[in-house]
Amino acid sequence: MKKIAILGATGSIGLQAIDVIEKQGYKSTALTANTDSKKMETLIRRCKPQYAAMASATAANDLRIRVADTDTKILSGTDGVCECAALAENDICLNAIVGMAGLRPTLSALQNGITLALANKESLVAGGDLVKNTAKENNVKILPVDSEHSAIFQCLAASPQNGSLKKIILTASGGPFFGKTKDELKNVSIRDALKHPNWSMGAKITVDSASMFNKGLELIEACHLFDVTPDQVDIIVHRESILHSAVEFADGAVIAQLGVPDMRIPIQYALTYPDRFESPSESIDFAKLAKMTFFDPDEETFDCLSICREAFKKGGLYPTAVNAANEEANRLFREEKVSFLQISELIRTAFSIDCAQKTYTLEMIEDVEREARQRVLNRVGI
Ligand code: NDP
Repeated sequence: MKKIAILGATGSIGLQAIDVIEKQGYKSTALTANTDSKKMETLIRRCKPQYAAMASATAANDLRIRVADTDTKILSGTDGVCECAALAENDICLNAIVGMAGLRPTLSALQNGITLALANKESLVAGGDLVKNTAKENNVKILPVDSEHSAIFQCLAASPQNGSLKKIILTASGGPFFGKTKDELKNVSIRDALKHPNWSMGAKITVDSASMFNKGLELIEACHLFDVTPDQVDIIVHRESILHSAVEFADGAVIAQLGVPDMRIPIQYALTYPDRFESPSESIDFAKLAKMTFFDPDEETFDCLSICREAFKKGGLYPTAVNAANEEANRLFREEKVSFLQISELIRTAFSIDCAQKTYTLEMIEDVEREARQRVLNRVGI
């Protein structure tokens, strides 16, 4: 029976992970969230974890009162979340926090030798070599939860490890605005952006999918996880989200991983790895599917993708800077304070920060994060 801490338990990935853990007969050691103490109370009564943490101190106080009759110990703040990530009894820490707030907990799990199932791609993008080196120094595995990276991980596991990998083919659904021109995107609303064709996800990643910043984050995530350059990653729009990504070898052979668009499959694989067990997900009905379509991404209209590629190529803390700028721009769009097309314009303000340093500490990362967020706010005059 594996013991698993779930960070971001009240979110889309967190709740699906709880389903998977229950079906596998695993145990949740700890659950964490930010402010939603009501949902956390329900989860504590359902999963009976030893610990729970709320990043917000007010929410932690509220939760303590709500679950005073249970045995769960309530922790508070980022330190509390990090403590849950690092519990000695954890076999795995699943990080499903949204945004850079996941960075400190990611580092805590790795520093304490706990296998990290990573949905929180922002922590790898923003933490870069600091996260990778911490994993290496502590001899800890990072298991991808993102469906594309789980697919690549599975393709590579089934292939020779002899340096014959030619390229990665990273698929993108294209999101709700696929095929639209800049002109047609001028007046799209948050409601339009939240209508993802295939996946039901949290609001931030759904907006990132609409702007294709999400694919940019995934490009950087793939470079870190699989030690490839951005030039070795082809991005291809695949509207049906059935082929979750592929790898091509030197001899031209391509191995792909397919499945219905159901996040419980990659979540489960990360938690049961290296084993596979039955899951409640449906099988693909190929005859019903009939065809799969593929298109080149329109990087001129959806320029967030090229912004991420540029940031990674510039190196240093530019990925941190554009990620933080996007977190602000994404939030401002969700709050209807800026338009959809302003998102990439605001992210570009991060390039004016001087942050090309090749080695960096957590404090340097957080300084760049603050600076990038401030530049976005200054640009919109808030
Ligand atoms: P949600 O918005 O649904 O959930 C986010 C979770 O993080 C919630 O539990 C939330 O708590 C918690 N949280 C928010 N802010 C903080 C904070 N400052 N400190 C600690 N916890 C915090 O997001 P998703 O589940 O959609 O996404 C989570 C991560 O997984 C993201 O990085 C996303 O990119 C990635 N991912 C998601 C996929 C999906 O299908 N949803 C697919 C692939 C990757 P509260 O409820 O209290 O706000």
